[in-house]
Amino acid sequence: MDFSSFNFHPSLQESIDLAGYKKPTPIQEKAIPIILEGRDLIACAQTGTGKTAAFLLPVLNKLLQEDHKDSEVHALIMVPTRELAVQISSHLDGLTYFSSISSIAVYGGGDGGSFVREKQALSNGVDIVVATPGKLISHLNMGYVKMKELKYLILDEADRMLDMGFHDDIMRIISHLPEKRQTLLFSATMPPKILQLSKTILKDPGEISIALSKPPETIKQSAYVVYDTQKMGVIQHVLAEQPYTSVLIFCSKKQTVKQLTAQLQKKGYKAKDIHSDLDQTQREDVLLEFASKRLPILVATDILSRGIDIDQIELVINYDVPPDGEDYVHRIGRTARAETKGTAITLINPDDQFKFQRIEKLIGKTVEKAALPASLGEGPVYGQREKKEGSKKTFSSQPKGKKSSAAPIANDRKPAPVASNGPRPKIAIIKKGTENNLPLSE
Ligand code: AMP
Repeated sequence: MDFSSFNFHPSLQESIDLAGYKKPTPIQEKAIPIILEGRDLIACAQTGTGKTAAFLLPVLNKLLQEDHKDSEVHALIMVPTRELAVQISSHLDGLTYFSSISSIAVYGGGDGGSFVREKQALSNGVDIVVATPGKLISHLNMGYVKMKELKYLILDEADRMLDMGFHDDIMRIISHLPEKRQTLLFSATMPPKILQLSKTILKDPGEISIALSKPPETIKQSAYVVYDTQKMGVIQHVLAEQPYTSVLIFCSKKQTVKQLTAQLQKKGYKAKDIHSDLDQTQREDVLLEFASKRLPILVATDILSRGIDIDQIELVINYDVPPDGEDYVHRIGRTARAETKGTAITLINPDDQFKFQRIEKLIGKTVEKAALPASLGEGPVYGQREKKEGSKKTFSSQPKGKKSSAAPIANDRKPAPVASNGPRPKIAIIKKGTENNLPLSE
């Protein structure tokens, strides 16, 4: 199947060609016909599947083919975070490049100037609004938002919106919208509260589920079973094997990110870190440096594991095993975006073995365990618990009979700082030349 079978408006087809999309992804193949038919939709799909274009393309096509007043808002896309709002907005800019469809991103944290711009667009009319619920409510409360003729409502990452406590805001916003509209709900997971919401706001929806928790086959996954003191040696070994130009290393804790980056820099690698201690401008600068391939190694917390959209990350290294299977899929999904190939390597210390076995179960695959380079000594045995002196159920974290070559980096078992317990924010990469503000969370 290719995009021509949808018979999209020529200007839209032109932007699809410009974006380099050759054929629809599975979610697009399933969702686009339902949306074009005018039906409501509930879709279970994660980021990385092409879900954004799955709703943008048919909605744009409808807007291009229908008569509509310039003085109204015609489509509303509600999202949990400002990062996702910015990311969708930049996606929209690309897909509307050859048409006159207008759009605006409305999210919290901007300056006075952005409020005035948003107010102007919402009161004078704009085709598509991409908004976080809280900020949109502030505008709705002022009474000038033109949404009486709205035709399309899209809830993206609905599960995260509910997790972040936006249920009542969403319902309040919906109370301002016409009853007769097409509603599309996208969610990475389908917990009961999402099904409940869908019953309230969707009418006879089409249902789609794109297999969850399975990393793309194009990612070559492997793992090293190590002691903490061997991790740095493995990273050096991996980086020496191939001249990677774009490597993303994930650590579960901010402290580990900082320490690992310092160690890498000390060893002469061009590496930088990104985490919540950096301010907005610093994060943006690092991300752009990495996205433009001027920075080969980026060390990050899970803040980047969802939603980051950078082309051609060749290698993802999990310095530690992520908390659960979903995180693992999200982390390694940063490589092999949209049908390119990628490599993902996970370092499993004895404490993380059980977690990794659970992940293997979830993804339905036994990840290949690579042999440690001889210079690092023997690693632990996989799947076999070892007793730490004085403790009952933990594992030893030192190689037997081998002196440590590097100090182990901060114990990942330390409790997470309070700030990282909240909902994980998303990062959007802003294409070069755009000047949007890119805070990390609402
Ligand atoms: P998403 O799941 O919406 O975050 O999309 C993930 C990535 O896939 C984005 O970089 C999109 O630009 C890209 N993408 C979306 N649709 C297609 C397609 N049909 N072919 C190739 N890449 C696509």
